[in-house]
Amino acid sequence: MNELSEFFGRRIPAKAAIPQLGAGMLAVQPVGQRYRCQRCQQWLAPTDRLPNGAWYCRQCLEMGRLTSQTKLYTIPEPNRFAIPAEPMLTWTGTLSDNQQRAADAVLHLVQRRQNQLLWAVTGAGKTEIVYPALAWALARGWRVAWVSPRVDVCLELAPRIQQAFRTTSQCLLYGEQSIPYAYSQLTVCTTHQLLRFERAFDWIIVDEVDAFPLATSPLLQGAITRAEKTTGQHLYLTATPGEALQRQIRRHTVATTYLPLRYHGFLLPRLRVRLAWRWREALAKHRLPPALIRRLRAYRQAGQRFLLFVPHVRDLTTVMAALRQADICGGVGVHAADEQRTAKVQALREQRVPFLVTTTILERGVTFPNIAVVILGGDDGVFSTAALVQIAGRAGRSADFPKGEVTCYVQSQTRTVRQAQRMIDQLNRQGKQRGGRWP
Ligand SMILES: [Zn+2]
Repeated sequence: MNELSEFFGRRIPAKAAIPQLGAGMLAVQPVGQRYRCQRCQQWLAPTDRLPNGAWYCRQCLEMGRLTSQTKLYTIPEPNRFAIPAEPMLTWTGTLSDNQQRAADAVLHLVQRRQNQLLWAVTGAGKTEIVYPALAWALARGWRVAWVSPRVDVCLELAPRIQQAFRTTSQCLLYGEQSIPYAYSQLTVCTTHQLLRFERAFDWIIVDEVDAFPLATSPLLQGAITRAEKTTGQHLYLTATPGEALQRQIRRHTVATTYLPLRYHGFLLPRLRVRLAWRWREALAKHRLPPALIRRLRAYRQAGQRFLLFVPHVRDLTTVMAALRQADICGGVGVHAADEQRTAKVQALREQRVPFLVTTTILERGVTFPNIAVVILGGDDGVFSTAALVQIAGRAGRSADFPKGEVTCYVQSQTRTVRQAQRMIDQLNRQGKQRGGRWP
């Protein structure tokens, strides 16, 4: 049975002939004059051919090559899970009153089989809010996927969910991992990994739904749709819904639960904007805005740790050099392709380094108890409204240090920066109505 369970709710090639699987389907199929991949549903280009004449899909190549000679097999999802008699939820924490209200709303919508959105501010504790609904779904024998476009979110999430649902079979799937796939009731994976599934999940929770690359990728959006059973449903989680999602919220086409307040009950730090005349030209001459230097010096003297966000990877070395010249030392730079990313983040957390200079890679998914946030060049196109709100959301997360400073240096006030300020202020207004206070 074990080798067959690999095919439950999935569409994958077989390593060896298995008679029970039937004839299977060609992985790359002719449709009219063109060829289409049956895993990622993308069309092939006329040049996507091997020397032997076979067609192959370039779009999902990183998951293993599929050609017009490969066959894919599937077995309809049987939900073959052992459901224990004791409660599924082994998490022992407690929810705040606001969190509990949101959790009840999410559960209620799941029970009514509705697609839904949970809009909870950064630091609201949105993972735990989903637990009661997840426990209910698992107890009914549902197969559930908790997915995110970001691998670091998956890596951070998987051990927490493992602890919270200790009796539930679980697996974690992402690009470079070496643990083999195992048929499980709860799958934590990147949105990319859903390409291997077909009508598998009764419920899909999409974490950080607005994050790159999901928001702009029809391929990944299609993967979610196809991985969901026809009777299934999904829950989107976000702190910063994009414009399309905000439109749906306004038009009431998606059932939405709000949580405008952090778990500790304090309001979000405001985004303070400071003008820095021609920061880009100055940076080219290895100089930083004087006001920025003064602020960072003050942080260093006070022993205040900070994150300094810069627009591009190429800015990292220049900024680091300029900081050294200004005698602001001891920090390290970090970016997406940095192999020591996790170690550097850990070093800041353990106070072994006083600050990180980073690209938007640390805009979400990282928490430091007492951190100031500074953005150089917030008017650069790389910082979207969502990115700025997420970056600001790194500050003030801990109940012990709810007060956090967020300062954004710009050449001029752009629409994006103003929208980010507006979103934070709006959330704080709603937060106040629910009893939120300034720290
Ligand atoms: Zn493909």
